[in-house]
Amino acid sequence: MNAKEYVENVIEHVKAKNPSQPEFHQAVEEVLHTLVPVLEKEPKYMKHKILERITEPERQIIFRVTWEDDNGELHVNRGMRIEFNSAIGPYKGGLRFHPTVNIGIIKFLGFEQIFKNALTGLPMGGGKGGSDFDPHGKSDAEIRRFCENFMMELYRHIGADTDVPAGDIGVGGREIGYLFGAYKKIVDRFEGVLTGKGLNWGGSLIRPEATGYGATYYLMEMLKSKGEDLKGKRVAISGSGNVAQFAAEKVTQLGGKVITLSDSRGAMYLPDGINDEIWNAVYETKAIKHGKLEEVAEKFDLPWYSGKKAWEIAVKEGEVHIAMPSATQNEIDLNDAKMLVNAGLIAVAEGANMPSTLDAIKYFMDNGILFGPAKAANAGGVAVSGLEMSQNSMRLQWTREEVDQKLQQIMKNIYETGAKYAEKYGKPGDLLMGSNIGGFVKVADSMIDQGIY
Ligand code: NDP
Repeated sequence: MNAKEYVENVIEHVKAKNPSQPEFHQAVEEVLHTLVPVLEKEPKYMKHKILERITEPERQIIFRVTWEDDNGELHVNRGMRIEFNSAIGPYKGGLRFHPTVNIGIIKFLGFEQIFKNALTGLPMGGGKGGSDFDPHGKSDAEIRRFCENFMMELYRHIGADTDVPAGDIGVGGREIGYLFGAYKKIVDRFEGVLTGKGLNWGGSLIRPEATGYGATYYLMEMLKSKGEDLKGKRVAISGSGNVAQFAAEKVTQLGGKVITLSDSRGAMYLPDGINDEIWNAVYETKAIKHGKLEEVAEKFDLPWYSGKKAWEIAVKEGEVHIAMPSATQNEIDLNDAKMLVNAGLIAVAEGANMPSTLDAIKYFMDNGILFGPAKAANAGGVAVSGLEMSQNSMRLQWTREEVDQKLQQIMKNIYETGAKYAEKYGKPGDLLMGSNIGGFVKVADSMIDQGIY
């Protein structure tokens, strides 16, 4: 069997074995298709059945979370943690609380995390977890009770050297605080078991900023390769959560003009870009009050489009040079990709995980758009989580400048790794292929070194 047939066989096998998990199938297809050249050159990966092994999580934990709301009514949610691959370090990856969460979504995220974590150059395996719990509209006390009950089961599976969760959609500083408090109470140990912690209790400076800043640093590397920078560029950003907020801040600092932000209810147009006042209002509304972006639009008299995506309103208002999808998976489809390319797009830096559909990615690439894939462009968050783990182990805290400087270097290395492997395997500039191969060889070689598991 040749490498191409082998890959198609594994994909079919994954689909049959994991029915009704379209996001997981999509993530597996995206990665495996780009690995054909490396499998052709290095048959050892086929011999050691690395693709079959790497697509099967080492462990999958599903559990019940029962919690009581403020009226005394009981609710039952499903919690899960996928411990996907520990070849190069403890499982590492966020927790997502969102009503759409199911096992297929957590598996796609965990699978992506394996390669992303390898690309950072830090010793972290891949994992992901979460719950179908919906934090929207819940009181602080309800969030706390949910987090405590979630940790009542999760604690037995995690640990500073075993599995180190972090935040993701719906899990920010407040939730990490409640989860950490519960863990510490149960095990009676203060350890770096979660990242994204508060600064007073083991957190790292720059962790909140890391994904958005990192995606912007990565974008700068891509632009630099074409002799470009951010000055005067019109940048459409989707989302208004953690990633979007700090991408918007860094893009603005580096001379770009952020023209959109959005949330699950609609999108906001920013004709004059984002200034400190608007940025602070977005942060306060979304990160502190867990409110609606529409309130910010109202406050500053900015155009608000209910139920619309950021891309649609960005192209309606003029040229779009850069897209930074920073909300959720599959938020750029083929139609959006065509609209953006027609509007003058030169680059996409994926802040969210798997935000572009497979046909949208192909369209970008076929049209010569610089494409920064999620597992490379948004790896800054987990990279600084890795640095948070190091600081916890050393029991010290680095300065803001130290962490930011390390983050910039890591993002540059990730870009260079992707560019190097793309060149080596005959597709210069294909950062999707290059990043997938760069992450894969490190993990696959480690799996071979460690025997047959
Ligand atoms: P947040 O919860 O802070 O923000 C998510 C944002 O996206 C909110 O504006 C939210 O709107 C919007 N959103 C969520 N789901 C949907 C949906 N189904 N349709 C439309 N809008 C939606 O999450 P993060 O910023 O942390 O995460 C955003 C993305 O970045 C995710 O894909 C995540 O996996 C990825 N990521 C995050 C990292 C991190 O360090 N935080 C690291 C690497 C990747 P609303 O407020 O209305 O719910």
